[in-house]
Amino acid sequence: MKTDLINKIIEYGKLAGIRGYTPGISGNISARNNNNIVITSSGSASGFLEPEDLSVIDFEGNVISGNPRPSSEKGLHIEYYRQRNDINAIFHVHSPYLTAFASAGISLSEKISPEIIYCFGEIPLADYALPGSKDLIEKTSRYFSDNDVILMKNHGVIVGGKSVKEAFLKLELVEEYAKTIICAKILGGAKILKEDDVQKIYSLR
Ligand SMILES: [Zn+2]
Repeated sequence: MKTDLINKIIEYGKLAGIRGYTPGISGNISARNNNNIVITSSGSASGFLEPEDLSVIDFEGNVISGNPRPSSEKGLHIEYYRQRNDINAIFHVHSPYLTAFASAGISLSEKISPEIIYCFGEIPLADYALPGSKDLIEKTSRYFSDNDVILMKNHGVIVGGKSVKEAFLKLELVEEYAKTIICAKILGGAKILKEDDVQKIYSLR
């Protein structure tokens, strides 16, 4: 087992728990470790992880070492790493504000925040499928090549980053953004940026 990666997952899992992004035993976190993946186990609470809650699996999903019961969403993580060499860590969570959008069937693709447009472009919404199913992998993975954040309908969100810290920071950014959009609704709704302004933001990338 790669101790520093395990420690990072425990550290940022705890932070995600403190922020309220990982209620109960929902969600799972992983990190790429050369040709293997370190992933939280089935039924573990991401905010209260112990080293024994981590499994090392290969890209076929076989357990190499550690906890014998890796997350049932391991296939989703494996597919994201397969498609994206630049992604080395993944958070899948049911954080309340992003999951509110996913539950309402609303993507976060409207152009409102310069920071979100700059960082992510759009945040798409993948169709619903049973958690842990091949169908879920198929419906969500069609967005992997172009997106670091994907809402999963009636379910939650998946976020990929270069490192565990970067994936966490992206999750933090989009969860707080979702909260802002909901607050703006109370105030009459967020204003959409003009296309011209959106293009100027894209030109900064
Ligand atoms: Zn889930």
